Amino acid sequence: MGLISTLKHPSPMFRIKCMVCESTSLFELLDLGMHPFADTFIPVARESDPDKLYPLVVDMCGRCNHIQLRAVTSPEDRYGEFDYSYTSSNSATARRHWDAYPHEVLASIRHPVESVLEIGSNDGYLARQFMELDLEVVGYDASPAMTKLAKERGVNAVCGIFDGTSEPAGVFDLVVANNVFNHADDPISFVEGVMNALTVKGTFVFELPYWYRSVLSGQFDQIYHEHVSYFTVTGAVKLFRQFANFRVYHVEEVDYHGGSIRVFVGNHRADSTVTDFMEMEALRDLFNPEMYQRWMRDIREARRRFLGVLPSGDIVCVGAAAKANTFLNYYGLGHGLVRYVTDASEFKIGKLTPGTRIPIMPDDILREGDPTVIITSWNLATVLKPKLRQLNPHLNFLTPSLR
Ligand SMILES: [Zn+2]
Repeated sequence: MGLISTLKHPSPMFRIKCMVCESTSLFELLDLGMHPFADTFIPVARESDPDKLYPLVVDMCGRCNHIQLRAVTSPEDRYGEFDYSYTSSNSATARRHWDAYPHEVLASIRHPVESVLEIGSNDGYLARQFMELDLEVVGYDASPAMTKLAKERGVNAVCGIFDGTSEPAGVFDLVVANNVFNHADDPISFVEGVMNALTVKGTFVFELPYWYRSVLSGQFDQIYHEHVSYFTVTGAVKLFRQFANFRVYHVEEVDYHGGSIRVFVGNHRADSTVTDFMEMEALRDLFNPEMYQRWMRDIREARRRFLGVLPSGDIVCVGAAAKANTFLNYYGLGHGLVRYVTDASEFKIGKLTPGTRIPIMPDDILREGDPTVIITSWNLATVLKPKLRQLNPHLNFLTPSLR
């Protein structure tokens, strides 16, 4: 089943100290083997370029509980080698989420907000929603292509990797970072940058996939090299203890990316949501290595079962998200087995998936034939299935059980 295209193993550097507290007591939680960058889609013209593969191993710090990848990869390699192709407003579900976001966040904040800095402003969709509320908004993003899209939307967007040396022009009442803090190679420097950009009573809100939810529903596909860190509330609380007058004061769980947390940080008194989440995490054994040994066994067993029932006919996939690539590469589902994967994003159609080298096609191609369809964007499966059946009533769905 080894269908990974061309292999090239650059010698990776391994993290021997915790990226948050510098303790050397890191222990292994999961080992998913060798993987390419999951959010790098390959243009056909560069098909013969070898994939850079790195070991996808997740460690936890025994002192501060921060969960982090062992392999150290460079952000230039992760985001700079090919055009970055993820747009955060790529589906109706996503747009609904970001439409509601400013209203929900402002309702949970205990101080007036007139200005907002968005780190990881991507295509500017959310920044635009804040602007509609007459707030002063600055966007910051590492991708030149996304910064350009944001500017076309009329957003004052700055291009650069955000850290403690960033100068985003001014101070803000609110700094938001959605699905970006977990990409930071130096979370401490990232927070220093946030603090420099905030007013004294300001709030930092970050949202990202909730590790508790990933564990509970078996979502190992949230793990990929672009996600350098994995967040629990307990880990976040300990991380911010390094900063005076800056603490996690409120936490909400939101139904996005298969279960996310929205964490509010600032010089405010913590409410009961913080301890509630921490107690829930301890009860679920989230910091116990033995729980992860069981999960790793479950992941291997689910793969064995799935490959055992895979039909021999025409197989296709729906959803070329980054997490789909963790799934496809871990399951060894390459182009020899999967004819194509569909996606709605104009930035992905016509390219190939990393590692597995499956061509990405528009959804319309599903009108042809009666293929077996694996929905890799499984969190959207209930929304997608009726739409796909409208395209072609002969589609057969095969859903991997991650748990
Ligand atoms: Zn640590």
